[in-house]
Amino acid sequence: MSVGIAERLLDGLTLGLFYFVYDYLYKHFAFFHIQPSVLSWIGLLLITDFLWYWYHRFGHEVNLLWSVHVVHHQSEEFNFTVSARITLFQAVARTFFWSLLPIVGFSAEMITTILLIHGLYPFFTHTRTVGKLGFLEYIFVTPSHHRVHHASNEQYLDKNYSDVFIFWDKIFGTFAEENEEPTYGLTKPLDSNSFLWQHFHFMLEMAYAFKYAEGWRKKLKTIFGRPDNINPTYRRVLEQKFVIHKTNKVPSTRFRNYVVIQMVLVLVGLFGFLLIEEQMDLISQISIALIILVSLVNCGAILEQRRWIFYLEYSRCFLTFFIAYYHFKEFFNPYIISALAVLITVYFKTLNRQYLRLIYGFQ
Ligand SMILES: [Zn+2]
Ligand SMILES: [Zn+2]
Repeated sequence: MSVGIAERLLDGLTLGLFYFVYDYLYKHFAFFHIQPSVLSWIGLLLITDFLWYWYHRFGHEVNLLWSVHVVHHQSEEFNFTVSARITLFQAVARTFFWSLLPIVGFSAEMITTILLIHGLYPFFTHTRTVGKLGFLEYIFVTPSHHRVHHASNEQYLDKNYSDVFIFWDKIFGTFAEENEEPTYGLTKPLDSNSFLWQHFHFMLEMAYAFKYAEGWRKKLKTIFGRPDNINPTYRRVLEQKFVIHKTNKVPSTRFRNYVVIQMVLVLVGLFGFLLIEEQMDLISQISIALIILVSLVNCGAILEQRRWIFYLEYSRCFLTFFIAYYHFKEFFNPYIISALAVLITVYFKTLNRQYLRLIYGFQ
């Protein structure tokens, strides 16, 4: 769930940013200047969907792009929250593909409109509750088609990349029909709930493979080659190094409540943030976004009983304090603040130990 929240957060911050990229490309590099008409809208939708097909297919066949798309495929559930499992990195990777649109000659307004519509469509296809849809199955990507894409069953692997129209898969030979019940998730599931591990495990695996590959050809292959060429034992080695395994410890109810409370606060905070975002200045926006992100990492870390958790708490306090100070300077006495900061630093070790004992029950 926390991946979806992070995505909404980044959406709020990056929306509009890409508009300027398209607008710049359109004004400086466009071959044509296409006017809006029924035909040009249909054309734009088709080209967008075609680019999506290749963006998505490369996302599965090229390691560098898979390292950012993998997050969308980690969930072993299949519902609309999965459609929100898109990261900022993925949005950037996608923008390279969409950048062809302004160069062809579509204006930034038209592109943004079509991308909004195109971006809403996946909410409809990520569901288990809709069966097959008769003749629509021949034209559009339906939930049944996309279930196949998310399945790890042998005959479903690397199939059904299309987003709105299913014919791209049929044309380029990657179509599969849903015949047996899909099993969702990665072929080799992750061994951790950690937000950071979900986002960066494949980049680490790539770096590891790159380090141990002999010769430049093989090294380049670890970046631009296919994911199944990366030795699966690397994941196990790295997991032993960086991750405490899911099954090792049973979470005590004490810190489970703490995590639940944090998640509720994050959700409420996020909602408020999205409501008043436009009236905030950039510094407040960035610091609140950081607090929410730190809280998400915090939840994952607590569930794994990581010991570095106190550093996160420390930085979160610091951020919260910074925001409070930034907005309500008149209420803060600089001497008291400095004294507090010195005290916390001097007693950092003791506080850390007390804190770990409080939430984990460590001695
Ligand atoms: Zn995919
Ligand atoms: Zn999907």
